[in-house]
Amino acid sequence: MELLKGKDNVEKAKSLEVAEDAREEQWKHPSFVSDLFTGKIQWGMIFPFPEQSADDKKIGDDYLKKLEPFLKNNLDADAVDRTGLIPDSVMKGLAELGCFGMKIPKEYGGLGFSQINYNRAVAMVASHCGSTAVLLSAHQSIGVPQPLKMFGTPEQKKKYLPLFSKGAVSAFALTEPEVGSDPAKMSTTATPTEDGNHYLINGKKLWCTNGTIADVLVVMAKTPPKIVKGKEKTQITAFIVEKGMPGFEVLHRCSFMGLKGIQNGLLEFKNVKVPKENIILGLGQGLKLALVTLNTGRLTVPAACTAMAKKSLVIARDWSNKRVQWGAPIGQHEAVTAKISMMAAMTFAMDSVTWLTSAMADQGKADIRLEAAMAKLFCTEASWRIADDSVQIRGGRGYETADSLKGRGEEPIPVERFMRDCRINLIIEGTSEIMRLFIAREAMDPHLRRIFPIMSPKTPLGQKLSMAVSAFAFYTFWYPRQWMYLSRWRNHTKVSGAIRTHIRFIEKTSHKLARELFHAMAIHQEGLEKRQQLLARFVNIGTDLFAMAASCSRAAHLLGQTPSDRGPEELADLFCKEATLRIKREFHAQRENDDKMIYKIGRKMLEGKYQWLETGIVR
Ligand SMILES: Cc1cc2nc3c(=O)[nH]c(=O)nc-3n(C[C@H](O)[C@H](O)[C@H](O)COP(=O)(O)OP(=O)(O)OC[C@H]3O[C@@H](n4cnc5c(N)ncnc54)[C@H](O)[C@@H]3O)c2cc1C
Repeated sequence: MELLKGKDNVEKAKSLEVAEDAREEQWKHPSFVSDLFTGKIQWGMIFPFPEQSADDKKIGDDYLKKLEPFLKNNLDADAVDRTGLIPDSVMKGLAELGCFGMKIPKEYGGLGFSQINYNRAVAMVASHCGSTAVLLSAHQSIGVPQPLKMFGTPEQKKKYLPLFSKGAVSAFALTEPEVGSDPAKMSTTATPTEDGNHYLINGKKLWCTNGTIADVLVVMAKTPPKIVKGKEKTQITAFIVEKGMPGFEVLHRCSFMGLKGIQNGLLEFKNVKVPKENIILGLGQGLKLALVTLNTGRLTVPAACTAMAKKSLVIARDWSNKRVQWGAPIGQHEAVTAKISMMAAMTFAMDSVTWLTSAMADQGKADIRLEAAMAKLFCTEASWRIADDSVQIRGGRGYETADSLKGRGEEPIPVERFMRDCRINLIIEGTSEIMRLFIAREAMDPHLRRIFPIMSPKTPLGQKLSMAVSAFAFYTFWYPRQWMYLSRWRNHTKVSGAIRTHIRFIEKTSHKLARELFHAMAIHQEGLEKRQQLLARFVNIGTDLFAMAASCSRAAHLLGQTPSDRGPEELADLFCKEATLRIKREFHAQRENDDKMIYKIGRKMLEGKYQWLETGIVR
């Protein structure tokens, strides 16, 4: 940690300390992505593509057969967007379908879905109505069911999980007006009562999705600090809070650019008395709980983004064939054809990343914290670009609301709603910037573990020496292997020549990435933490490599199933070729860039040095 801390101010150091304390230090299972950053590609982890079992697939298929007609016949997504309300009849119907208990084990009355089937269901909802998808996802991916399933006591599970199975709604309350990405400064407190049996929660929580209608919430609050080796340690603890508990109040329902139907609010807690039995995982374990919950919880976002991308692609394809301008369907003008082509390749990559990561979560054999973060980062950014392209392809109609289109007799195609709805995905459950920092921190972890204790003044001299010897021995072998290596590809599955070319590139580039990250750590040392532009490029390269690997694996799998259809291979090939170009550009930019100038000008702008630029506008 100190290695990352540098000479920064106390506040930042405290935030880093809280983040580091919440980190899962152990890697109990192998991680494909973590290894990728060290030049060790474990192909066997993703080849052959992990397929959903036939039994599990049937459960999902049967469920989607019920869910799809329900959505089509009962949920008017444009009306939700217009009125800001998901009708009671829809809430009731969703509850009857078991939507609020999809992830809850059967013994508690839930559907006991695998991650894949749960994601398939939320994805289908997202392709139709973003607000309803977010209602279900906030409830189950981050709300009370998931942390209780993972960490709840038998009593907590018995008391709460059956309620959700019947349709009770839950929410997750971490963010505060002054606390977003950096929870260390949280001001909501939970003070133990004199007898120690209860805690009194005081504070405000902002933007809590489902918060205005939730029956039960997970609330993060600061409990009294722990003294460790004479130093105060911030303790953030997760509490189960019921809406009926005196002192809990919804102060305001927030409304947003999109997702008009979500019930998201500013909540106040005034001396809300919560029994100590309502603590989840333990005192001071709140942030760890949030991080671990999000490792799988976060996977719903890429699934939803992928479904929205597919729907946008269908709309763009249909319109490009139908709309004739300049004597030809617009899809035949190369600028539009190229957009459609890239949308399809990108959607294939999103699909591959989403279902690979979901399958890994179900198999439980891999540590997917980095895969999930990359899936979130990659799919949210890709879906935003796809939404943008689909608006562009629809032209003026892309900017017109579905209601307005309908009002003048045209088909109410909601691409502008999709665009508004999908923008938030780059912000919630970890912003893109925070995801990049998180991935970069974990990517450097194998080196930090070896080097940090040697540099730390706290490590006793004897231990330092023995660690230095073992680090020297490790790097004597590891570093040359990043230049001269044998392929780890063992024909895990049959692949075509095109895919094999990409596999070779991924392997070669993984070694290059490992070397360059190592060099950057050696050159910048503790200063690397501040070089966010440089770190982001490493993460972008790693993310594209992961998406390439997922796409290759899935293409090989689909080709194996239907050899006559080369479509998956074509899309994977195009995605990989474009990703290869991006990766080469990113490596080039690591050596030749304007980072310093960009930073300097940004700082000057922040200091108000370019105010002459700000003329001619309404102030
Ligand atoms: C529709 C919606 C639903 C939400 N649902 C929930 C919910 O259910 N529960 C809940 O607890 N919260 C929820 N949130 C809050 C959401 O998680 C936060 O908005 C998010 O964590 C970012 O926090 P912030 O908005 O305060 O941004 P800030 O943390 O203030 O960040 C602002 C910008 O600065 C960047 N930034 C911040 N720190 C750094 C850094 N160290 N390095 C580089 N860049 C940085 C961010 O990436 C971002 O671009 C919701 C928000 C919205 C709008």
